[in-house]
Amino acid sequence: MQYRCPQCQSPKIMPVAQAGQATPRPVVPKSLVLLVPALFILLLLVIISIAMWIFGDGAGSTLQTATVIVFIITLIAGFMFYKDLPDFKISMQAFMQTQKKWKCRECNHEWEI
Ligand SMILES: [Zn+2]
Repeated sequence: MQYRCPQCQSPKIMPVAQAGQATPRPVVPKSLVLLVPALFILLLLVIISIAMWIFGDGAGSTLQTATVIVFIITLIAGFMFYKDLPDFKISMQAFMQTQKKWKCRECNHEWEI
């Protein structure tokens, strides 16, 4: 099974929710739920730190501590997600296979498997 649009061969396809049927969702690992916001917060803290280095007398010690803590959380979450990845892949594949109706985001073509 190929996950491409049969009309324009675009990989930008999405499943269409079927009426009267609960859409099964892939099991998202908790590590990913933790990793994504942790990455965002880390990025934000790093940007603030850099801005403070450029425009002020350097990042405050509270900010530096917070950055280090968030960095460690991100590392742990990243490692946990790395371990969860095989299960997540299987879950995603199972999810893709249960989807019968698909829609292409490029050309709006809809088809059923
Ligand atoms: Zn298409």
